[in-house]
Amino acid sequence: MRDWIRNVYLAVTTITEGMYVTLWYFVQTFRRKAFTQHFAYPELPVPIRPRYRGFHRFDLTACIGCDKCARACPVDCIYIEKEKVKLADGKTAFRVDGFKIDYTKCMFCALCVDPCPADCIFMGSTYDISCYTRDGCVVDYAKLPLDVAWGPDTLNPTVVHESKKVSLPVWTKT
Ligand code: SF4
Ligand code: SF4
Repeated sequence: MRDWIRNVYLAVTTITEGMYVTLWYFVQTFRRKAFTQHFAYPELPVPIRPRYRGFHRFDLTACIGCDKCARACPVDCIYIEKEKVKLADGKTAFRVDGFKIDYTKCMFCALCVDPCPADCIFMGSTYDISCYTRDGCVVDYAKLPLDVAWGPDTLNPTVVHESKKVSLPVWTKT
């Protein structure tokens, strides 16, 4: 009899505790409101933390085409097109014609940022470049205007779409 009462007591208290946790989270979820009610997204941008890792920023004018970022990438989603050229002083250097990042593969780990000897790539604050095709997820930073690729302008779907029509890297423009 004593065992039976203890089992009933245990069953009732266990279920009550479990239901209390469920009810607590239910109320919290209700009070928290939906994401869109909080931030009025997409009409207003969502505030981000200072160390947020969004879509990259890349400075084509500083990149030396060393491939260190591409080698550090764990998912191999950085594709660099470059050509060896002779400079006026007789030295050789790489000319970077394409710097593509495939955002269908990128996991925003930032491992490509640290090895860069020229500090020309870092994680930006943009979190939204929605697109209708997979091709739109491949961004060629060498074809984007420098104001967009490096800043201060925002990386956005329209400018990425426009960059698909550009065949030569932006540095070839006068
Ligand atoms: S953030 Fe990570 S996954 Fe994305 S390109 Fe850089 S190293 Fe690769
Ligand atoms: S590590 Fe830096 S300098 Fe080297 S290819 Fe990548 S972005 Fe360019």
